[in-house]
Amino acid sequence: MRLPELTWPDINALDRERTVVLIPTGAVEQHGPYLPLGTDTFLATAAAEEIAAQIPDIALVTPCLWLGASLHHMPFSGTLSHSFAGYEEALTRTIQSLADHHFLKFMVINGHGGNVDSNHITLRKLKYQNPTLQLAAANYFDFLDQSVLDSTLAGPLKSIRHACEAEASLMLHKHPQLVRVDSLRDDGLASEPVIPGLISNFDEITEEGSFGYATLATLEKGATLWQSIIENGTEAVKRFSGGYTYLGIV
Ligand SMILES: [Zn+2]
Repeated sequence: MRLPELTWPDINALDRERTVVLIPTGAVEQHGPYLPLGTDTFLATAAAEEIAAQIPDIALVTPCLWLGASLHHMPFSGTLSHSFAGYEEALTRTIQSLADHHFLKFMVINGHGGNVDSNHITLRKLKYQNPTLQLAAANYFDFLDQSVLDSTLAGPLKSIRHACEAEASLMLHKHPQLVRVDSLRDDGLASEPVIPGLISNFDEITEEGSFGYATLATLEKGATLWQSIIENGTEAVKRFSGGYTYLGIV
């Protein structure tokens, strides 16, 4: 179910004990010379909506919060960025509004690395203020099994970076018409020596804005990765809806 397509009586008729509100969070930011600015918004929205379509009785999707925290991409034209405070306020108000309407379970499905810290800060503040809320801040790529990444990706980076082999493959699968295939390139610069925890803008760590081995991207790899995302994401939302308990010392 997509929230904007419902009426307020529709909302009141939902089982708000079980329903998981899925909140896609994305960005409009540069993705190198070959992927579109909306890549993270497209992928986070599609993941949330396709997961919800598998389990329409327990999942409600909000519109994507598309104005992400992307200050580290600002050197590249077309990037739009919230302030961190503005982003966190938008996410807080989205969740608090539906908490006021007696929803209890919220899962952020994020597509943009720059939002990760703010998603955690926002949900930790909300949890402190509303201890009965059940909150999860997931990235759609968290749903990928590492074994699938290892067996699917050919390059040395077996994870999602930025406009990389994995992300470019996902875009070839979901939006092939938006990928400038002739401009695919490998990019990404490591510091020498390696500095743990280094904070960098993307014009410092790339030549043209991407990080990874996008020349290895294929539509077929994207389809394989996407299937794992939707299958595992659907199972995660089902478990979240069903409830959980904490079991002793693990
Ligand atoms: Zn991205």
